[in-house]
Amino acid sequence: MSKKQCSICSAIDSDINPIFSKKGLFVCRDCQNKYGASIDDLISRLDIDGENEEYYDFDINFNNTSPKILKAALDEYVIGQDEAKKLLSVAVYNHYKRILQNNDDEDDDVEITKSNILLLGPTGSGKTLMANTFARFLDVPIAICDATSLTQAGYVGEDVENILTRLYQAADYDIKRTEMGIVFIDEIDKIARVGENRSITRDVSGEGVQQALLKIIEGSVVNISPQGGRKHPHQEFIQINTENILFICGGAFDGLNDIIKRRLGGNMLGFNSDKKIINNDEKYFHLVDSSDLMNYGMIPELIGRLHIIATLDEINQEAMLNILLKPKNSLIKQYQKIFALDDVELEFEEGALKLITQKAIERKTGARALRAIMEGVMIDLMFDIKDYAGYKIVITADFVSKNKPPMLIKKGLKSTKSKTIKRQRS
Ligand code: ADP
Repeated sequence: MSKKQCSICSAIDSDINPIFSKKGLFVCRDCQNKYGASIDDLISRLDIDGENEEYYDFDINFNNTSPKILKAALDEYVIGQDEAKKLLSVAVYNHYKRILQNNDDEDDDVEITKSNILLLGPTGSGKTLMANTFARFLDVPIAICDATSLTQAGYVGEDVENILTRLYQAADYDIKRTEMGIVFIDEIDKIARVGENRSITRDVSGEGVQQALLKIIEGSVVNISPQGGRKHPHQEFIQINTENILFICGGAFDGLNDIIKRRLGGNMLGFNSDKKIINNDEKYFHLVDSSDLMNYGMIPELIGRLHIIATLDEINQEAMLNILLKPKNSLIKQYQKIFALDDVELEFEEGALKLITQKAIERKTGARALRAIMEGVMIDLMFDIKDYAGYKIVITADFVSKNKPPMLIKKGLKSTKSKTIKRQRS
């Protein structure tokens, strides 16, 4: 996308002098300060209202899409989590279909209400990745934020409205694009109020933040400051309608399984056969309902706005291995590409991959750990990359555990010969 230019002074959009747009008029911050006028004033002064309405013809990449196609897009990047992927694909499809339907049939009485999404799953299981993949596939802007950094207005921390500012920035300062974007709020469980059922101590503002979030999630017109930061009286505001913004909230909800267990325990007296089915904690998570989330400390109004609840499984070692290898932009493929740019071929032995995944499991941060571990393994090779030009590097388990240098094979030797060399060395 080409950079926007100020309609008055032709300045190019930049971080220092951002351009704001409304009704096709682009005004840089310097001009706004210089003329001391709001964008609306300038529009009426310059009499250009509606002149560039076609700017609003914003299309998302939705034509010919179906839940199946959306799921296939997720499959390219997200390993496992099939149930969540299916649920999410349907939800995202319905969301955008709803927006397009509501736009088309203005006389229609039946308005489909908005459904936002709650993703329950351990850290590093692919929640953010899914939201990101959808945004990329549909070509809509996305803002990702952490609920723990948010506060209710007046407290130290980030105002909830700043999420929308970030979305607006991700949308290249385009209001229409902003209003069809995706907001992903991670760690939503960390703003649960302290419930009777849990012994977590947190400040009282959790509930306040939930209330503030509710306001934007339920669909309303919100004033945001285009530059972010705290609002002040002499500032230009931009109005964003959150009606069509898709909110996806994610959280690990540690301890939630105990609440579910307690509920089911009560209901299952006398149903011993059912009890046998549920034999590990992960399965309890799949049985969550809104009452459990309320018991956890989420306010009912907020839960009521998150109609779709999808559960993600913890990443086990097999999934870790697949994550290393299979996604379209998997870490292994990325390293191979980056090495190939310096004429170095890279091969990983199975033992090496297993050791890497084992180390990742130990860190207990899900698949997120893989990148840091790989970086640690590869850093010296990358530092000396020029010395390896024309070679194939075989990463062995011994190299990963730092016991031996990597195995080098001059490129161009046949693979059978490479194997012979490998056996001789080991
Ligand atoms: P969280 O569930 O905490 O939001 P993320 O989606 O941010 O976790 O995952 C962190 C990283 O781990 C991702 O960028 C991705 O590389 C990897 N990852 C996590 N889960 C998966 C998965 N199911 N498939 C592929 N990669 C994954």
